[in-house]
Amino acid sequence: MLFDRDGTLIVDVPYNGDPQRVTLTPTAREAVDLLRAHSVPFAVVSNQSGVARGLISEEQVAAVNARVAALLGAAGLPFFVCPHAEGEGCGCRKPAPGLLKSAAAALGVPIEECAMIGDIRADVDAALAAGARPVLVPTPATLPHEVALAPAVAPTVLDAVRLVLGVS
Ligand SMILES: [Mg+2]
Ligand SMILES: [Zn+2]
Repeated sequence: MLFDRDGTLIVDVPYNGDPQRVTLTPTAREAVDLLRAHSVPFAVVSNQSGVARGLISEEQVAAVNARVAALLGAAGLPFFVCPHAEGEGCGCRKPAPGLLKSAAAALGVPIEECAMIGDIRADVDAALAAGARPVLVPTPATLPHEVALAPAVAPTVLDAVRLVLGVS
């Protein structure tokens, strides 16, 4: 299972480099606990263009990621980060499929068996490009047409995980 970070597992604080400002979204912990109960491996795939733009450092991203992992009780949680800016033409910035493919390979799970849970169109399109199953969890910032176009939508991250696992 693959998760977007900002706006999905944690409350989005744009270009945040401060671990103290990390807050989980309401059901994130319960969602990963459910995955653990089902022995489903998971990773995080995150665009961090603030690195390329000089707004945050790689070290700050790593510190925030470490805080996310700690709050989730998921020591060693794998993070796959695109540090590039839009327009650089990298293969990893979502909606490109690169991060998702790398994450699936690291988890040892065929990409076709991976779900991608995220809050915006780029997450859905990256999943479709990679061959994974997208589930959109809208936030107040998610555009209505993004919701309308998503193949699957869930109201919370926990509901998305339940949907993928087929449990209620
Ligand atoms: Mg997001
Ligand atoms: Zn990239």
